[in-house]
Amino acid sequence: ISFNSARFLISASRLDECPPDIGAEVAFAGRSNAGKSSALNTITVNGKLARTSKTPGRTRLINFFSLNREGCRLVDLPGYGYAKVSRDMKDDWQQHLGHYLNERRCLKGLVLVMDIRHPLTEFDQMMVDWCEHNHLPLMILATKADKLKFGQAKTAMLGIAKKLKPFKCVEHLIMFSATSKRGLEECQAALTDWLEA
Ligand code: GDP
Repeated sequence: ISFNSARFLISASRLDECPPDIGAEVAFAGRSNAGKSSALNTITVNGKLARTSKTPGRTRLINFFSLNREGCRLVDLPGYGYAKVSRDMKDDWQQHLGHYLNERRCLKGLVLVMDIRHPLTEFDQMMVDWCEHNHLPLMILATKADKLKFGQAKTAMLGIAKKLKPFKCVEHLIMFSATSKRGLEECQAALTDWLEA
């Protein structure tokens, strides 16, 4: 797989608008502002790719990107926790996300993007629990590592690893930075393993 082959495919607001449930998908989740779009842009070597997902009106949609291997896709899930969304919108978010996560057979793994300085928020923990319960392989990208000194970043990673130790679903815990590209090759290799398995 060449990740720079990624192309925007379609946005979906409901399960029945998603591409046919065949092939292999890896989905990216994260709290708003965690750095999910930047991570996707870095992984696909495309500075604009995930901007599509950020255009007003699309932020609440599930965005699909095709890859050069037949039937392989990356999926940008809506960011969680917009500053002041109403209770109704949160319910809506949970509902359509929940549908996708629960029903999607071709989902091979979840990438959870978190700011290394603010790891394992309530939302993150909810996603970890969900993956554990549903036996879905999980990759944690602890991003914006360039914002910390290396020693501090290492310490943060140890703290995250310790908290995640009980969770068997966590297959990869990667120190990442969209700015310095730290962790990029490791992340791409893990994605390739999941998508080509
Ligand atoms: P999203 O809401 O999760 O998609 O977050 P974005 O990718 O839009 O990033 C939120 C903010 O964090 C933006 O101002 C980015 O430029 C910044 N950012 C994202 N990733 C990194 C990173 O690895 N390093 C640094 N220094 N800033 C980052």
